[in-house]
Amino acid sequence: MFRGVELILPRHCIQCGLWLTSQEPWRLGCAACEGRWPDLRGPEGELLMRERCMMHRMWTGFRLRENAALEGQIHALKYKGRRRLGQNWGRWVASSSEAPEVEGSMAALVPVPLHWKRHWKRGYNQAEWIAKGVSQEWGMAVYPNALKRHTHGRSLTSLSRRRRHDLTEAAYILGPKCPPHGTQIVLVDDVMTTGATIRACAAVLESANHQVLGALTLALA
Ligand SMILES: [Zn+2]
Repeated sequence: MFRGVELILPRHCIQCGLWLTSQEPWRLGCAACEGRWPDLRGPEGELLMRERCMMHRMWTGFRLRENAALEGQIHALKYKGRRRLGQNWGRWVASSSEAPEVEGSMAALVPVPLHWKRHWKRGYNQAEWIAKGVSQEWGMAVYPNALKRHTHGRSLTSLSRRRRHDLTEAAYILGPKCPPHGTQIVLVDDVMTTGATIRACAAVLESANHQVLGALTLALA
């Protein structure tokens, strides 16, 4: 009957459930709800990210812990199997800005990887699904196997800042399928907290002579 309807999901506001009349495929909330979201797309978010991690270009979607509906989205994306939310949110973040200009070279998206055990248990990497959405908007290829996480991500919250930093540094290695050399890489993750993960991933790629242009995250904790 209405087979095409599935292709244009979601069509209801993720916060109040109101039917969305807007045709933009990346639209996730009604005007009233989106107007109240702690939206960080644009220069403000970029500035806040740079305080944690200095990179040429940075993009983020919203500030976490200020809106229960948005927190619920991150939770559903990570723990409830709602991988397609990642794609929708990736489009939402990327739709607010033009694709970064890279003169004379290609650009690619590299999602921050999960440890294979966690990936296997969850069935997907949420950062990869965010990258897929960004890719739809910006037309950049996604390299989900450019990096590998080789230590299991046990909770590091009880450790000292220094020790946590060391462990994050050591957690990532180069994976089997990197973008060609000379490609400008944008790292993609779900939430940026201290910026240590993004810095560690960038360091691995740069030590193998890859160029990291910047990073995009769905939210800023
Ligand atoms: Zn709404």
